[in-house]
Amino acid sequence: MSHAYLISGPHQVGKMTLAMDVARLLNCEADERPCGECNPCKRITGQLHTDVRAIRVEGTGREGRGRTAISIDQIRDLQKEASLKPYEGRYRVFIVDGAEQLTEEAANALLKVLEEPPEEVVFLLLTADTGSLLPTIISRCQRIELRPLALDIIAEELVKRFGTEREQANEVARISGGKPGWALEASGDSDMLERRASQLDTVEVTLRQSIEGRFAYAERLGTAFTRNRDGVLAELTLMVQWWRDVLVVSQDKTELVTNLSRLDALRAAADGLSSDAVASAIKAVQETMSHLERNVNPRLALENMMLTLPTIN
Ligand SMILES: [Zn+2]
Repeated sequence: MSHAYLISGPHQVGKMTLAMDVARLLNCEADERPCGECNPCKRITGQLHTDVRAIRVEGTGREGRGRTAISIDQIRDLQKEASLKPYEGRYRVFIVDGAEQLTEEAANALLKVLEEPPEEVVFLLLTADTGSLLPTIISRCQRIELRPLALDIIAEELVKRFGTEREQANEVARISGGKPGWALEASGDSDMLERRASQLDTVEVTLRQSIEGRFAYAERLGTAFTRNRDGVLAELTLMVQWWRDVLVVSQDKTELVTNLSRLDALRAAADGLSSDAVASAIKAVQETMSHLERNVNPRLALENMMLTLPTIN
């Protein structure tokens, strides 16, 4: 067992799932580890175990501006805790979720700990962007790279595990983009798919509306952004995906559609628009997302996007 692992791979490919498995493996009390059933396993799953801690970008600052980095203070706390003996389990496990978001100062402080790792401590660094990490940090870690899976393997697994209808399994696999963690979670949690469907309903309704309806949508997302940055970015990602679907439908490549169950609405939208107009729409949403990530005024950015997007059939 190494003291530090770097788990890399695209968003939602299953990095956190693997990290939690490792944490359970290290602290499980059963013979076959991790069992998922013993007290430590359950406490880790419920995020109640005092020796297992995830560190990530925290909270939102003043004026609704989300913090965008893991701070030096968070790593100093980690340093202090890491020097203590495990409290209830065998190992202390620190999961740094989004290691590319460490400030330079924080990264250097973490490097010090990795260079002289305390006994009975395991660090799990998760990242979607290995290129943004200090090479010195990478070299201290065992690397585990997670890749997206083939869609038919995922669909097969959903049919097997959940008895999902074939057609729906195919759609969920496509939506997951090869990320089994997402597909499994979505299939085990019908709320997740329903929420997604209702967000897509809203997108379709709003794009048919005039300016008042569009600005109301921009206002709602803009307000939500201050509390739930990731949620809003996920909603916009969904919108990009929807526009991509319109694009592939307009080019008669239906086999590439992600949201298979929405084919009728996608066809209607594609009918009224040129491929160029659809491509510009995709670009407009993507640009808005990168503006939001750079902390511009969210409502203005979203209103501007809604002015740019074409009206659909
Ligand atoms: Zn266990």
